[in-house]
Amino acid sequence: MLESVGYDEMVRMLRSAARMVRDDHGRLSQLDSVGGDGDHGTTMVRAMTCLEKAIDTSASRDLKSLLYDVGWAILGVDGGATGPLLGTFFMSMSEAVAGKEVLDAAGLAATFEAGLAGVRTQTKAQIGDKTMIDALAPAVAAMREAAARGVKDIEQILSQGVLGANNGAVATKGMQARFGRAKNIKERSIGYEDPGATSVALIFFGFWKEVEDHA
Ligand code: ADP
Ligand code: MG
Repeated sequence: MLESVGYDEMVRMLRSAARMVRDDHGRLSQLDSVGGDGDHGTTMVRAMTCLEKAIDTSASRDLKSLLYDVGWAILGVDGGATGPLLGTFFMSMSEAVAGKEVLDAAGLAATFEAGLAGVRTQTKAQIGDKTMIDALAPAVAAMREAAARGVKDIEQILSQGVLGANNGAVATKGMQARFGRAKNIKERSIGYEDPGATSVALIFFGFWKEVEDHA
Protein backbone atom coordinates (compact mmCIF):
# COMPACT_ATOMS: atom_id res chain seq x y z
CA MET A 1 0.00 0.00 0.00
CA LEU A 2 1.32 3.42 -0.98
CA GLU A 3 0.87 5.86 1.89
CA SER A 4 2.67 8.91 0.55
CA VAL A 5 3.44 10.73 -2.67
CA GLY A 6 6.86 12.27 -3.06
CA TYR A 7 8.64 13.77 -6.05
CA ASP A 8 9.17 10.47 -7.89
CA GLU A 9 5.59 9.32 -7.45
CA MET A 10 4.25 12.69 -8.57
CA VAL A 11 6.41 12.59 -11.70
CA ARG A 12 5.04 9.16 -12.57
CA MET A 13 1.46 10.24 -11.90
CA LEU A 14 1.85 13.31 -14.11
CA ARG A 15 3.38 11.32 -16.95
CA SER A 16 0.61 8.76 -16.71
CA ALA A 17 -2.02 11.54 -16.89
CA ALA A 18 -0.30 12.88 -20.01
CA ARG A 19 -0.45 9.42 -21.64
CA MET A 20 -4.16 9.05 -20.86
CA VAL A 21 -4.97 12.44 -22.37
CA ARG A 22 -2.88 11.79 -25.46
CA ASP A 23 -4.49 8.38 -26.04
CA ASP A 24 -7.96 9.93 -26.00
CA HIS A 25 -7.34 13.32 -27.57
CA GLY A 26 -9.47 12.46 -30.61
CA ARG A 27 -12.54 12.13 -28.41
CA LEU A 28 -11.74 15.45 -26.71
CA SER A 29 -11.62 17.30 -30.02
CA GLN A 30 -14.76 15.54 -31.20
CA LEU A 31 -16.63 16.68 -28.09
CA ASP A 32 -15.27 20.21 -28.54
CA SER A 33 -16.47 20.26 -32.13
CA VAL A 34 -20.11 20.10 -30.97
CA GLY A 35 -20.24 23.54 -29.41
CA GLY A 36 -16.66 24.75 -29.50
CA ASP A 37 -13.93 25.06 -32.10
CA GLY A 38 -12.81 21.43 -32.07
CA ASP A 39 -9.36 22.14 -30.71
CA HIS A 40 -9.57 20.80 -27.18
CA GLY A 41 -7.81 17.53 -27.97
CA THR A 42 -4.90 19.19 -29.74
CA THR A 43 -4.67 21.89 -27.06
CA MET A 44 -4.56 19.22 -24.36
CA VAL A 45 -1.88 17.30 -26.25
CA ARG A 46 0.18 20.50 -26.42
CA ALA A 47 -0.41 21.06 -22.70
CA MET A 48 0.69 17.49 -21.91
CA THR A 49 3.79 17.84 -24.07
CA CYS A 50 4.65 21.01 -22.11
CA LEU A 51 4.02 19.10 -18.89
CA GLU A 52 6.45 16.35 -19.92
CA LYS A 53 9.10 18.84 -21.04
CA ALA A 54 8.74 20.71 -17.76
CA ILE A 55 9.36 17.45 -15.88
CA ASP A 56 12.39 16.67 -18.05
CA THR A 57 13.95 20.09 -17.50
CA SER A 58 12.84 20.69 -13.90
CA ALA A 59 16.06 21.51 -12.08
CA SER A 60 15.31 20.83 -8.44
CA ARG A 61 13.75 17.56 -7.44
CA ASP A 62 11.08 18.81 -5.07
CA LEU A 63 7.30 18.74 -5.28
CA LYS A 64 6.84 22.50 -5.17
CA SER A 65 9.22 23.24 -8.06
CA LEU A 66 7.91 20.31 -10.07
CA LEU A 67 4.29 21.48 -9.86
CA TYR A 68 5.33 25.10 -10.36
CA ASP A 69 7.28 24.27 -13.52
CA VAL A 70 4.45 22.12 -14.86
CA GLY A 71 1.85 24.80 -14.09
CA TRP A 72 3.96 27.56 -15.59
CA ALA A 73 4.54 25.54 -18.76
CA ILE A 74 0.81 24.85 -19.17
CA LEU A 75 -0.06 28.50 -18.52
CA GLY A 76 2.00 29.25 -21.62
CA VAL A 77 -0.12 27.02 -23.84
CA ASP A 78 -2.05 29.29 -26.16
CA GLY A 79 -5.37 28.38 -27.71
CA GLY A 80 -8.06 29.42 -25.31
CA ALA A 81 -9.44 28.45 -21.97
CA THR A 82 -7.38 25.38 -21.16
CA GLY A 83 -3.93 26.92 -20.61
CA PRO A 84 -4.96 29.44 -17.94
CA LEU A 85 -7.33 27.07 -16.12
CA LEU A 86 -5.19 23.94 -16.08
CA GLY A 87 -1.98 25.92 -15.56
CA THR A 88 -3.50 27.65 -12.54
CA PHE A 89 -4.58 24.26 -11.18
CA PHE A 90 -0.98 23.05 -10.99
CA MET A 91 0.43 26.43 -9.88
CA SER A 92 -2.01 26.46 -6.97
CA MET A 93 -1.11 22.88 -6.08
CA SER A 94 2.52 23.99 -6.05
CA GLU A 95 1.83 26.75 -3.52
CA ALA A 96 0.02 24.25 -1.30
CA VAL A 97 2.95 21.82 -1.15
CA ALA A 98 5.54 24.43 -0.17
CA GLY A 99 7.92 22.96 2.38
CA LYS A 100 6.61 19.40 2.00
CA GLU A 101 8.71 16.57 0.62
CA VAL A 102 5.93 14.02 0.71
CA LEU A 103 2.15 14.09 0.86
CA ASP A 104 0.07 11.60 2.75
CA ALA A 105 -3.46 10.82 1.57
CA ALA A 106 -5.00 13.77 3.41
CA GLY A 107 -2.18 16.03 2.21
CA LEU A 108 -2.74 14.92 -1.37
CA ALA A 109 -6.48 15.61 -1.07
CA ALA A 110 -5.72 19.04 0.39
CA THR A 111 -3.30 19.76 -2.44
CA PHE A 112 -5.94 19.00 -5.07
CA GLU A 113 -8.37 21.13 -3.11
CA ALA A 114 -5.93 24.05 -3.33
CA GLY A 115 -5.70 23.43 -7.07
CA LEU A 116 -9.47 23.68 -7.38
CA ALA A 117 -9.50 26.88 -5.29
CA GLY A 118 -6.99 28.35 -7.72
CA VAL A 119 -9.10 27.42 -10.73
CA ARG A 120 -12.10 29.03 -9.06
CA THR A 121 -10.23 32.34 -8.96
CA GLN A 122 -10.06 32.14 -12.77
CA THR A 123 -13.69 31.35 -13.48
CA LYS A 124 -17.09 31.92 -11.96
CA ALA A 125 -18.33 28.61 -13.37
CA GLN A 126 -20.09 26.47 -10.77
CA ILE A 127 -21.23 22.86 -10.73
CA GLY A 128 -23.97 22.49 -13.33
CA ASP A 129 -22.51 25.02 -15.78
CA LYS A 130 -20.98 22.28 -17.97
CA THR A 131 -17.29 23.03 -17.60
CA MET A 132 -14.20 21.33 -16.18
CA ILE A 133 -15.45 22.43 -12.73
CA ASP A 134 -18.13 19.73 -13.02
CA ALA A 135 -15.42 17.06 -12.93
CA LEU A 136 -12.86 18.79 -10.73
CA ALA A 137 -15.13 19.83 -7.86
CA PRO A 138 -16.66 16.37 -7.25
CA ALA A 139 -13.24 14.74 -7.60
CA VAL A 140 -11.87 17.00 -4.88
CA ALA A 141 -14.95 16.55 -2.70
CA ALA A 142 -14.72 12.75 -2.95
CA MET A 143 -11.03 12.78 -2.00
CA ARG A 144 -11.66 15.17 0.89
CA GLU A 145 -14.43 12.91 2.20
CA ALA A 146 -12.26 9.80 1.86
CA ALA A 147 -9.44 11.52 3.75
CA ALA A 148 -11.89 12.62 6.45
CA ARG A 149 -13.03 8.98 6.78
CA GLY A 150 -9.43 8.14 7.58
CA VAL A 151 -8.43 6.56 4.27
CA LYS A 152 -4.63 6.40 4.20
CA ASP A 153 -4.10 4.47 0.99
CA ILE A 154 -3.15 6.78 -1.91
CA GLU A 155 -4.64 4.35 -4.42
CA GLN A 156 -7.97 4.46 -2.58
CA ILE A 157 -7.98 8.24 -2.28
CA LEU A 158 -7.27 8.58 -6.00
CA SER A 159 -9.88 5.98 -6.92
CA GLN A 160 -12.44 8.17 -5.14
CA GLY A 161 -11.15 11.12 -7.15
CA VAL A 162 -11.59 9.16 -10.38
CA LEU A 163 -15.15 8.19 -9.43
CA GLY A 164 -16.02 11.79 -8.60
CA ALA A 165 -14.45 13.14 -11.79
CA ASN A 166 -16.03 10.47 -14.00
CA ASN A 167 -19.50 10.86 -12.54
CA GLY A 168 -19.16 14.62 -12.86
CA ALA A 169 -17.98 14.44 -16.45
CA VAL A 170 -20.77 12.05 -17.42
CA ALA A 171 -23.33 14.32 -15.73
CA THR A 172 -22.28 17.22 -17.99
CA LYS A 173 -23.98 15.32 -20.82
CA GLY A 174 -27.36 16.46 -19.52
CA MET A 175 -26.27 20.04 -18.95
CA GLN A 176 -26.53 23.19 -21.02
CA ALA A 177 -23.22 25.08 -21.28
CA ARG A 178 -23.18 28.42 -19.51
CA PHE A 179 -19.47 29.21 -19.97
CA GLY A 180 -16.97 28.93 -22.77
CA ARG A 181 -17.68 28.73 -26.50
CA ALA A 182 -20.32 26.01 -26.10
CA LYS A 183 -22.52 28.59 -24.35
CA ASN A 184 -23.30 30.00 -27.80
CA ILE A 185 -25.17 26.92 -28.98
CA LYS A 186 -27.46 27.05 -25.94
CA GLU A 187 -29.61 23.93 -25.49
CA ARG A 188 -27.90 22.20 -28.42
CA SER A 189 -24.97 21.63 -26.07
CA ILE A 190 -27.14 19.14 -24.15
CA GLY A 191 -26.47 15.49 -25.00
CA TYR A 192 -22.66 15.65 -25.14
CA GLU A 193 -20.09 15.57 -22.37
CA ASP A 194 -18.10 18.73 -21.78
CA PRO A 195 -14.61 18.31 -23.26
CA GLY A 196 -12.83 20.04 -20.38
CA ALA A 197 -14.61 17.91 -17.78
CA THR A 198 -13.67 14.82 -19.81
CA SER A 199 -10.02 15.92 -19.77
CA VAL A 200 -10.07 16.31 -16.00
CA ALA A 201 -11.52 12.79 -15.67
CA LEU A 202 -8.71 11.45 -17.90
CA ILE A 203 -6.08 13.23 -15.82
CA PHE A 204 -7.36 11.73 -12.58
CA PHE A 205 -7.67 8.33 -14.22
CA GLY A 206 -4.01 8.65 -15.21
CA PHE A 207 -2.97 9.59 -11.66
CA TRP A 208 -4.87 6.62 -10.22
CA LYS A 209 -3.76 4.10 -12.87
CA GLU A 210 -0.10 4.77 -12.20
CA VAL A 211 -0.51 4.17 -8.49
CA GLU A 212 -2.76 1.16 -9.05
CA ASP A 213 -0.19 -0.41 -11.42
CA HIS A 214 2.87 0.21 -9.28
CA ALA A 215 1.85 0.48 -5.65
P1 ADP B 1 -11.49 27.03 -26.05
O1 ADP B 1 -12.94 26.86 -25.70
O2 ADP B 1 -11.00 28.38 -25.69
O3 ADP B 1 -11.20 26.60 -27.47
P2 ADP B 1 -10.61 24.47 -25.14
O4 ADP B 1 -11.35 23.95 -26.32
O5 ADP B 1 -9.20 24.02 -24.98
O6 ADP B 1 -10.68 26.04 -25.09
O7 ADP B 1 -11.35 24.03 -23.80
C1 ADP B 1 -12.74 24.04 -23.71
C2 ADP B 1 -13.08 23.62 -22.29
O8 ADP B 1 -12.62 24.61 -21.39
C3 ADP B 1 -14.57 23.54 -22.03
O9 ADP B 1 -15.04 22.27 -22.34
C4 ADP B 1 -14.70 23.85 -20.56
O10 ADP B 1 -14.56 22.69 -19.77
C5 ADP B 1 -13.51 24.73 -20.30
N1 ADP B 1 -13.88 26.13 -20.19
C6 ADP B 1 -14.01 27.02 -21.19
N2 ADP B 1 -14.35 28.22 -20.72
C7 ADP B 1 -14.45 28.08 -19.37
C8 ADP B 1 -14.77 28.95 -18.28
N3 ADP B 1 -15.05 30.25 -18.47
N4 ADP B 1 -14.76 28.43 -17.02
C9 ADP B 1 -14.46 27.14 -16.82
N5 ADP B 1 -14.15 26.28 -17.77
C10 ADP B 1 -14.16 26.74 -19.04
MG1 MG C 1 -11.89 24.70 -28.09
